[in-house]
Amino acid sequence: MIRASDLNRYCFCPRSIYLTDVAQITPPVTLELLRGRVGHAVRHEISLRQRRILDESRDGEYMTSLNSQIDEIFSDLRGLMGADWRSECSLLADDVKHEVIQEARLLASDLDAMVSDVGLKRALAIVSPWQVDYPLESKNLGLTGRVDKVINDGVLMPVDIKTGSTVDWGGGDALQLCAYGMLIEDTFKQHVPYGIIEYTRTVEKKPVVFTDKLKAKTLDTRDAVKEIIDGVEPPVCPHGEPKKCEACNLKDDCYRI
Ligand code: SF4
Repeated sequence: MIRASDLNRYCFCPRSIYLTDVAQITPPVTLELLRGRVGHAVRHEISLRQRRILDESRDGEYMTSLNSQIDEIFSDLRGLMGADWRSECSLLADDVKHEVIQEARLLASDLDAMVSDVGLKRALAIVSPWQVDYPLESKNLGLTGRVDKVINDGVLMPVDIKTGSTVDWGGGDALQLCAYGMLIEDTFKQHVPYGIIEYTRTVEKKPVVFTDKLKAKTLDTRDAVKEIIDGVEPPVCPHGEPKKCEACNLKDDCYRI
């Protein structure tokens, strides 16, 4: 079974799949990595609480509700992070909280605009997932994954929350989302025409239509990932973009082996 998230990693760098899944290399836990994990856990949780934020903001005071939710999330950061928690996370929390509060202003404006456009009842329906962190697996497709949200708005729609970079390297975000869409189709035997990529840092919601071409590319990428897991080793820097390697947490092992 190939993980939907690995299609995305493949688009960033095929060799990273080889290093983690075949050579069994674990990236060192640096402060930067921990900072990313804290940011991911918090931003993911805020996204899942959008219904609660709207519910508590009947008077339009979205920022008040957001601040209270953010305080609550940070007060139980350790519980939220579970096995990813390290004592250093508490040192990073203030910095991440500062960033998240800045981003919350954008989310407050976005929620305000949504309620103005479609009304509170419809806005609540739009931000209320039918399922969250929903596990999916299909033997037919040879794919597995855990989708952040599934919205049921007459048709089922996957939503993938991206808490880091807003750069979609090689279209990997769209392929990962398409894999979730295909998994939902296969599981529930109903057509899933499109999904949404939610970039939390910029509060952007990017719709992706699951065309036949995108589905075919998703399956081709699944096959390419499988080849690597079966032992085909991509060369160092296969993408020819040294900047990616400079920022990569696998670079020391990658260039050594
Ligand atoms: S260091 Fe470069 S080639 Fe190696 S895994 Fe990272 S991005 Fe890929």
